[in-house]
Amino acid sequence: MPDSLPCIVLTGRPNVGKSTLFNRLIRSNRAITHDRPGITRDRMEGVVRRAGLPVFGIMDTGGVTLDAHAAVTEGPDGIRGFEQDILRQTETALGRAQGAALVVDGREGLHPLDEHLAAYLRRAGLPVLCVVNKVDGMELEDELTAEFHSLGFPLVAASAEHGHNISLLAEELVAMLPENRQAAPEAPALRLAMLGRPNAGKSSLINALAGEERMIVSEVAGTTRDSVDVRFTLDGLDYVFVDTAGVRKRTKITDCVEKYSVNSALKSSSKADLTLLVLDAAEGVGQQDKRLMDMLDTRKSPFLVLINKCDLAPRQSLTRLRQNVRDMLVFCEHVPVMPVSALTRRDIGKILPMAKKIYDECQVRVSTGRLNRAMEEVLARHQPPVVKRTRARFYYLTQAETAPPTFVFFVSDAERVPENYVRYLERALRKLFAIQHAPMRIRLRSSHQKKTRARTS
Ligand code: GDP
Repeated sequence: MPDSLPCIVLTGRPNVGKSTLFNRLIRSNRAITHDRPGITRDRMEGVVRRAGLPVFGIMDTGGVTLDAHAAVTEGPDGIRGFEQDILRQTETALGRAQGAALVVDGREGLHPLDEHLAAYLRRAGLPVLCVVNKVDGMELEDELTAEFHSLGFPLVAASAEHGHNISLLAEELVAMLPENRQAAPEAPALRLAMLGRPNAGKSSLINALAGEERMIVSEVAGTTRDSVDVRFTLDGLDYVFVDTAGVRKRTKITDCVEKYSVNSALKSSSKADLTLLVLDAAEGVGQQDKRLMDMLDTRKSPFLVLINKCDLAPRQSLTRLRQNVRDMLVFCEHVPVMPVSALTRRDIGKILPMAKKIYDECQVRVSTGRLNRAMEEVLARHQPPVVKRTRARFYYLTQAETAPPTFVFFVSDAERVPENYVRYLERALRKLFAIQHAPMRIRLRSSHQKKTRARTS
């Protein structure tokens, strides 16, 4: 391997499929395709190419078996007696490398040896990508990678045997190398979708928020039917209203071609980070609005509800309308409902800060240590109910995703955790992690063994 080429080490406990992965990456059969005797062969080195050109070097190593104190423990048959040599070999490889891939077995789940090796790699100070191997298809990715998030490395799911995600993996490895790391990109604009029935006041609100002159940009002849993005900057932050096709200048409202279809609304909202649903205080809330709120909730899209034209509604009817909307949102209490007026500018200044807050809450990531302390606390305060004579046991809590924050509880039997207890868990986590207005997902996964539980201190 040329010295000038950056180099990545494949590491992992025995039998996770490192050699098969190594072969896949270098597209040859140079390594032995069993992950067994790590020491009887030389360290395998190869070159990963793109379009025929070498991109990075890769070193395969034997299966590492470390205990919680980073001392070698006895490995399986094939490597017994060689554990110390394998560790030394891995150490040498890490010393020469610019990055490491920690290969784990998605089918077997998180193993204490993975955690010990992860801790060891963290101390090595190299960038690390965790490769969840043996994930044979996209549909399995979420489920099989969930518990590995606790290792704290970026993850890629792949199948060395079936070739799933191999080129993605190669790309991620390249991107991890220090020389390819780009400076953090400038903060991207917050993308907003403004939805609501025609005449609810969407254009007026965009004008009120972005300034009149911005809408004129989107009023170039011929663009009224196309999807138009309205960009503006406020207090140093960039915003974009996406897909403002239905949002036009007041004079054009007589055009009744404009429809309010839930489908196209959802399409716009999927292009955005956040959706603003506009209601008209004078018209109340309709079935379409309700359907849209239900769909946004089901999809866990972050959104907020604006009751516009509140200058037209007497206080009592505004209170009633607000209550109606709240009733429709009974299972998503977190969604803010804000009375505003584009005309008088009442509370217009609160809209974007709230949007930004929801967006920030969507990005929250909680460390595994904190999650599991939180879990103990939440269970102690209000223990799970007895269902069919047993109480579900809760083993472990991990965060699988952000945007929206997705928390996975590993429990003895998910069937024994009733819906209202899940809602309690959600409310409790929201309070502890200050996730007030963003959507959140709570998942339960039955896990019969406690053995894979990651103990973090
Ligand atoms: P869009 O179809 O949702 O984009 O609605 P427009 O922004 O074009 O507004 C429809 C009509 O409602 C226009 O005549 C606006 O002047 C009026 N309007 C918009 N916002 C307000 C408001 O806060 N108060 C009152 N009284 N009228 C409003």
